[in-house]
Amino acid sequence: MSRTDPRRRRTRAAGAPPTAPATAPPTDPSAWSDAVAAVLGLVLPVACVGCGAPDRAVCRPCRDVLDAEPQRRRLVAGVRLDAAFAYRDTVRALVLELKLRGRTDLVPVLAPRFGALVDRALADVPGALLVRVPPSPAGARRRGFDPVVLLLRRAGAARGRARRAPRRALRRVRGRVPADRPGSRATTRVAHGQKERTALERVEATVGTLRAAHVAGRDVVVVDDVVTTGVTMAEAVRAVRAAGGRVVRCVALAEVEE
Ligand SMILES: [Zn+2]
Repeated sequence: MSRTDPRRRRTRAAGAPPTAPATAPPTDPSAWSDAVAAVLGLVLPVACVGCGAPDRAVCRPCRDVLDAEPQRRRLVAGVRLDAAFAYRDTVRALVLELKLRGRTDLVPVLAPRFGALVDRALADVPGALLVRVPPSPAGARRRGFDPVVLLLRRAGAARGRARRAPRRALRRVRGRVPADRPGSRATTRVAHGQKERTALERVEATVGTLRAAHVAGRDVVVVDDVVTTGVTMAEAVRAVRAAGGRVVRCVALAEVEE
């Protein structure tokens, strides 16, 4: 940038303190990431994920659309499932950006409603354990982060953290992949035929893919990000029951209306 750049002159004229010389390296390590973020912000301007309007990850009108979205409730394997959003339109766009493109800056937008539902479930059933449906191995490897964990952390679900079940309370049985997990081998294999599969076939392909531990005699709240057919959530419920636990509530970020 030239010394005679008009924006720079205007800044100085407005009385802003002179910036450090460009040749001086930041001494604080975090200053480097701030500097990188600032430069990236110049070449990759932030646009609203919902509508493309510049400057904000999610613009005000799109946040209003989110606020107006109804919550969802249905039964999964006889257990009440609360979903913070219907999985459609703006919600779908945000969830896909978070999960597929690593847009963790969307977590603060999505977290409050999800966290509130988790907190309510744990308040309704004192002492319940919070158990997460394990993400597909392929998705977890690709992302390098767990969106559900980020959402809960952001929501400050303190009660949830205190009551989180031991790691791997619910885990995938090696060699078996639920039929409806995005990125799963089973999904890839049958993707074009998924719609034609009967509900019974989807259930049969999923039963036995999860195993629970450390839940015997406990009340359990099962959480996941997106519930589509519900067969994976139902498999989580089955696995917890098989291990002697009682699923008292399921909570999802978003749910697809069947
Ligand atoms: Zn927007």
